[in-house]
Amino acid sequence: MDEQLKRIFEKQGYTIVGNHSAVKYCHWVRKSLIFNIPCYKQTFYGIESHRCLQMTPAVNQCTQKCLFCWRYQGFTETKIDEKEADSPEFIFEKMLEAHRQQVSGFKGDERCDEKRWEEARNPKHVACSLTGEPTLYPFLSDFFEICHRHGMTTFLVTNGTMPEVIENMDTLPTQLYVSVCAPNEEIYKKLCCPMIKNGWERVNRTLEILPSLNTRTVIRHTLVDKWNLGYEKEYAKIDSKAEPWFIEPKGYVHVGYSRERLTMENMPSHEKIRNFGEKLASITGYELVAEREDSRVVLLGRGKERKI
Ligand code: SF4
Ligand code: SF4
Repeated sequence: MDEQLKRIFEKQGYTIVGNHSAVKYCHWVRKSLIFNIPCYKQTFYGIESHRCLQMTPAVNQCTQKCLFCWRYQGFTETKIDEKEADSPEFIFEKMLEAHRQQVSGFKGDERCDEKRWEEARNPKHVACSLTGEPTLYPFLSDFFEICHRHGMTTFLVTNGTMPEVIENMDTLPTQLYVSVCAPNEEIYKKLCCPMIKNGWERVNRTLEILPSLNTRTVIRHTLVDKWNLGYEKEYAKIDSKAEPWFIEPKGYVHVGYSRERLTMENMPSHEKIRNFGEKLASITGYELVAEREDSRVVLLGRGKERKI
C-alpha cells in the first residue's frame, strides 16, 4: 500500500494489516467497556459489543463513492488482484493481533472491569464492515470459514454490487447485510456514485439472490435527509423482492470525510427515521420490533429469531 495513503488511514486510527486490510475498534467497544452501554446491534441481535472486532479486507477498495461515506476516497481502487491478495489465514491472525493491541489501552482504566477487558481481547464476533467493499477480497468465503471455526460469529456489510461473489460463497457470514441506499437508479447514481458499469442492475441482482441464501439477511437503508429519505413505496418494492429477515432504516451520521460532501442538515432526526420505518412496515407487512434513538435506527422484522 502507498505510504501516504497508509499514513492517512493510520491517522484515522486504523491499523493496516498486510496489503489491503485494516482493523479499528468500534467506538461502541469503548462505550461498552467503560460505561456498559452496548451498540444497537447488541440490542437488536444480542451480539456482545465489547467482544466485537471491526475490520475490513478492502480498506481502499470499493465500487462506489457514496456521498455519505465516512472513508477517505482519494485513491479508491475497484478491485484486489488475486495474486496480490493476502491469505485469509494471514488476515485472521494479524487482525486479531492488531485488535488486541488496540484494546490493550483499556487495561489501566479503572472504569473497565478486568474480566470484560479479557473478553474484549478474545473477540467472539467479527464485523466485516469498517470501510470499503469486502466482497472485492477474493477469499472472503474462506475468511468467514476460519472465523466460524474459531467460534466467532460474523456480520458482512456489502453494497450489493458483487452478486456473483455472494452467489458463490461456500461459507456465508452469520448475518448478511445489503445496503440499499437509494429507492431508484436516478438517486443511486447521484448519491452512491458507482464506479462500475450497471451498478444499480448489479445491486438488484444481489437482492434477487437474497431469498435463496441460507443465512440471516438484513437490508440496511442508510437515509440521508433531502436525498433518499421518503420514497417508502419504492423501497417497499425493493425489500419485497429481497425478502430479508430484517430491515434496518438508519439515519446518516455526519462524521469523517462525509462532512466534506454533506451538511448537518442531511442528518435526519430519529423521529423521521421512525416515521419512515412505520410507513415502510405498513406497506411491506413487516413490524417495527425495536429501535435505538441514540443511533437513529429502527428494526423491522417478520417473526424471525432476532438473537444470533
Ligand atoms: S456490531 Fe457494529 S456497532 Fe456493534 S460493536 Fe461491532 S462494529 Fe460496533
Ligand atoms: S459502499 Fe460503503 S465503503 Fe463504499 S463508498 Fe459507499 S459507504 Fe463507503
